[in-house]
Amino acid sequence: MGRLDNKVAIITGAAQGIGECTARLFAKEGAKVIIADLNEEKGREIAQSIGPDARFFKLNVTDYENWKACIAYTKQEFGKLNVLINNAGISYRKDIATTSVEEWDRTIAINQTGIFYGMQLAIEEMRTNGEKCSIANASSIEGLVAESAFFAYCAAKGAVTLMTKAAALYCGENRLSIRVNSVHPGYIITPMAYDDARQNGQTIEEYSKEFIGKHPIGYLGKPEDIAYGYVYLSSDEAEFVSGTSLAIDGCYTAQ
Ligand code: NAD
Repeated sequence: MGRLDNKVAIITGAAQGIGECTARLFAKEGAKVIIADLNEEKGREIAQSIGPDARFFKLNVTDYENWKACIAYTKQEFGKLNVLINNAGISYRKDIATTSVEEWDRTIAINQTGIFYGMQLAIEEMRTNGEKCSIANASSIEGLVAESAFFAYCAAKGAVTLMTKAAALYCGENRLSIRVNSVHPGYIITPMAYDDARQNGQTIEEYSKEFIGKHPIGYLGKPEDIAYGYVYLSSDEAEFVSGTSLAIDGCYTAQ
């Protein structure tokens, strides 16, 4: 028996990194998964390698109509929607003095507005399906504490922390069978970390050495550390967990 048997999940940003790992783990735990990402080539490859329990859908999370089509496709392929993992995200290593208007707009559109669109449309779909449903949103340690080097990212991830709680309250107050939580990863080695290292003018080894120092546990995270958090929050094991901010961060925010 899998921890996610009979669940149908959309996972955004699942063509690499934490999202890919989450999609693979969800399928292993019995879920049917929609790999929803802009990257068609990698997304299709991953869906194919998972097998009949996975499909790819080309989703741009900043496009409301595209989200509607994604949810319709999920119902067409797997009959329902129980779980949404709002994982897609981007980051710029830019402080308030150097963030361009374009970088600000793009960060807010993908990391914040995309999550609003996904949550609103998923709740509309889930509220009538009569099953236990769950939404988990990717925030960050930078949605709990600030870092000057990630100005727009902090703005969006901080918003996700409270958007999550407001949506969780709405679902509770209206007695909907939908739980909503956020996940706050510390530094996780994914393609995003490689990109961040590049923006910081470092090799991944130099980058890891520098940022391990900020994690009192003494090491950085791996995608599985976060994926297991999503499995827990999406399973019925967590049926009393809603409106929470789950930090998976090697003590980063405990200081
Ligand atoms: P990643 O860059 O490795 O993967 C992100 C995925 O999102 C990619 O497949 C990309 O194609 C997709 N994506 C980007 N824009 C999109 C859009 N508009 N529509 C649909 N898909 C889009 O990132 P990751 O490191 O796996 O991070 C995943 C999430 O976790 C992000 O929200 C990130 O902010 C958050 N997070 C990551 C870390 C970390 O250290 N890696 C730390 C804290 C939070």
